[in-house]
Amino acid sequence: MYNEKAYALGANRSCIRDLFEYGQQRAAIVGKENVYDYSLGNPSIPSPAAVNDAIRAILSDTDSLAVHGYTSAVGDLQTRQAIADDLNSRYNAGVLPQELFIGCGAAPELCAVFKTLAVPGAEFLVIAPFFPEYRPWVEETGATLRVVPADIPNFQIDLNAVEQMLTPNTCALILNSPNNPSGTVYTAHTLTALADLLTKKSEEYGHPIYIVADEPYRELAYDGVEVPFIPTIYKNTIVCYSYSKSLSLPGERIGYVYVPGGATDSAALYAAIAGAARALGHVCAPSLWQKVIARCAGLRPDLEAYDRNRKALYEGLLAAGYETAKPDGAFYLFVKAPGGDAVAFSEKAKKKDLLLVPGDGFGCPGYFRVCYCVSFEMIQKSLPVFASLIQDL
Ligand code: PLP
Repeated sequence: MYNEKAYALGANRSCIRDLFEYGQQRAAIVGKENVYDYSLGNPSIPSPAAVNDAIRAILSDTDSLAVHGYTSAVGDLQTRQAIADDLNSRYNAGVLPQELFIGCGAAPELCAVFKTLAVPGAEFLVIAPFFPEYRPWVEETGATLRVVPADIPNFQIDLNAVEQMLTPNTCALILNSPNNPSGTVYTAHTLTALADLLTKKSEEYGHPIYIVADEPYRELAYDGVEVPFIPTIYKNTIVCYSYSKSLSLPGERIGYVYVPGGATDSAALYAAIAGAARALGHVCAPSLWQKVIARCAGLRPDLEAYDRNRKALYEGLLAAGYETAKPDGAFYLFVKAPGGDAVAFSEKAKKKDLLLVPGDGFGCPGYFRVCYCVSFEMIQKSLPVFASLIQDL
């Protein structure tokens, strides 16, 4: 006997992983340089050198038992203090170390927060297009995920649609900005209007509607575009942050949850998140990486390579006749599929060894995602292939 739901999740592989593995197989046959794999969001810029320097320094000047031992479940105080100091210096947000819970990256942090908020009958809203893993994570808690249709073509937030979908059972709205897959950054204007709506509805329903802000891409914004720190706009925001993309550390599993002291039921929420994480098997975040973050919380990525890719691809695709959302952040372009059917278009592209992810899984059919954390050479070589696909229609 085994759990059928778990089996289905494991057996039905993600379309992105399938594409990625297909790309590896093709590379073995036609050569890596002839496969244009835009499927997977694995960072392509190395971590800042200071990260590796910090590891070396920690290994040489810290007692080995302390480096590799368990830490407190909520994380080392020095790490939480360093993160609080960094957030306060950037956003003047009054963050305290006891409001931070050090987790193993955004994925398990979100699972703990969803479990915390999922009272019986709870509904979570998410704005399309959205990261597909939210669905299994929310549904695992017994709650329902309801999708607010995309605000096409700008991929901000359609507030009328949000208002229509809010119910007394809505416990939270999941926001991801800069967004995977659209690359959009929600503006302060959009977020302020959303905050007003949620405040009004929270009062009407007699309970808070939280924003769960999923922020692995917070540091990845271009052309000076500002990524608002949502707790300064809406107090009932729970932030799930990750260093996977900002410091190119996706395999190391480190991030944090921030529960603002001013949020409704803040202390109880924090305790419940720690409890939910515990029930999900959290013991502590990797000890070495907590110590690295204690030294490196203020580091920012050097975005030059992503920015160069972004511009080349954006301009190249527009010149070839494609339509796409303005890619202000993260490392994705979300492009309208010529002909309207993104699955069919991606299949055609696949025949030319160009690997694109259809937007259907992100709740936004008719678009495909292009991950530009790749080499610049690949972008240059692939642009004629993109152009030929549109000409062949
Ligand atoms: N949320 C979004 C929007 C993502 O794109 C990802 C990873 O790609 C995650 C969460 C999970 O990130 P982490 O590696 O921090 O678990």
